[in-house]
Amino acid sequence: MSLRILIPQARKAAQARPAGYIDALLAGGKVNGDILEIDQATWEAVQAKFADGKEHPLPSLATRGAHFAAALARATSRVLAGQPIRVPDAVEAARAEYCHGCDKFRKSDQRCGLCGCCIGQPILDKLKWSGESCPDNPPKWVTYNEPS
Ligand code: SF4
Repeated sequence: MSLRILIPQARKAAQARPAGYIDALLAGGKVNGDILEIDQATWEAVQAKFADGKEHPLPSLATRGAHFAAALARATSRVLAGQPIRVPDAVEAARAEYCHGCDKFRKSDQRCGLCGCCIGQPILDKLKWSGESCPDNPPKWVTYNEPS
């Protein structure tokens, strides 16, 4: 997948990054006026290389793809078993509280640094899926099952 990045915005973000960040970003894509077109894997590699040292690094694209495929399989088996795949709002809010206080949570892209899943985003949000759990050891939150 290709991303379109606003270069002035990237230059602003570069002020908080180690030297060389903006050059690496621009070298990794195609500049067209104020827009940088860059493929997602390259963008993520630059983000990981020039992390500010405070955020947990993301797992590789392949690992994240495998996690997503596993999450889809869990959701499918829940649907087939007649179980809801979405958690109640209160459960989602409780999960969000754990994640936002967690040292593995990446504020820059709203993802979990251990599994790479989206946290608190409108779509593909790990917190909303009943079959998901925190990958930390021990987990900070677990799968949700409807009370019987
Ligand atoms: S899923 Fe777990 S490890 Fe990941 S950010 Fe949330 S609490 Fe932290």
